[in-house]
Amino acid sequence: MHAFNYHRPSSTKDAAALAGKGAEPKLLAGGQSLVQTMKLRLSAPSDLIDLNAIAELKTIKSEGGAIVIGAMARHAEVAASNEVKKAIPALAALAGMIGDRQVRNQGTIGGSLANNDPAADYPAAVLGLGATVVTNKRKIAADQFFRGMFETALEPGEIITQVSFPSPKRAAYTKFKNPASRFAIVGVFVADTGNGVRVAVTGAGPSVFRQADMEKALSSKFAPESVAGVKVKADGLNSDLHASAEYRAHLVTVMTKRAVEAAMK
Ligand SMILES: Cc1cc2nc3c(=O)[nH]c(=O)nc-3n(C[C@H](O)[C@H](O)[C@H](O)COP(=O)(O)OP(=O)(O)OC[C@H]3O[C@@H](n4cnc5c(N)ncnc54)[C@H](O)[C@@H]3O)c2cc1C
Repeated sequence: MHAFNYHRPSSTKDAAALAGKGAEPKLLAGGQSLVQTMKLRLSAPSDLIDLNAIAELKTIKSEGGAIVIGAMARHAEVAASNEVKKAIPALAALAGMIGDRQVRNQGTIGGSLANNDPAADYPAAVLGLGATVVTNKRKIAADQFFRGMFETALEPGEIITQVSFPSPKRAAYTKFKNPASRFAIVGVFVADTGNGVRVAVTGAGPSVFRQADMEKALSSKFAPESVAGVKVKADGLNSDLHASAEYRAHLVTVMTKRAVEAAMK
């Protein structure tokens, strides 16, 4: 690894000031994605701004019908949170499905969202629940946040501080996972918001996306048979050594059907 300056601020304000300086500053959360890219020389920051000492980024709370999760909350903390389990059990379950024990104890929701890996789990919950990503500068609706493969609406140096998830009437996440990494080959988050149904798909395309045909079918009748016959086009879907685009398209229908079944239990 090349030399870099290491900073450990204790407030978001100080972190933001540091993120505006240096040739190529980078925020460090759980390090589960960033450190690997540094080891592979795909990333060579001049300054690492470690967010781990910022207490205000670690809270998980229930606030006016929403669950508000601090950017530095670990996946394991979200999975174990009584508040999350009570209000949005599907979100706690999703966090518990991420990677392995080490990844869940180190990785954070803010890091996962900023990274926007095409196969990551949290983007499906954020888009499926219509959550709001809060930064040190503004609030970004889920529909505007995810822009493409490893690409988000975040500006350079902008820090995710928390994510606000509205509680749905019912919801579920199902994932067909890569058995080695546990990343999603296809993962589907279905949420019956009480005001329409949202279906968010991860793993299948370059970035998480909503499946409009399924949303329409489920909004008129929330039942597995509403989506069982919906065929998804393979055009533009990912194709790699794990699964072809056609197989992924087929999995979107199967996983959505299973998510609806799970949400109805
Ligand atoms: C073996 C393995 C298996 C995995 N399996 C899965 C899986 O099944 N599902 C899944 O979803 N993920 C999986 N992951 C990824 C894991 O969830 C990571 O934790 C996550 O992608 C990155 O989070 P992090 O906190 O480690 O971020 P870091 O690696 O520290 O940072 C990632 C990026 O986000 C930026 N960043 C971090 N925090 C913020 C913030 N608050 N505001 C703005 N930018 C920020 C950093 O600058 C960096 O660019 C796996 C990882 C590994 C190593």
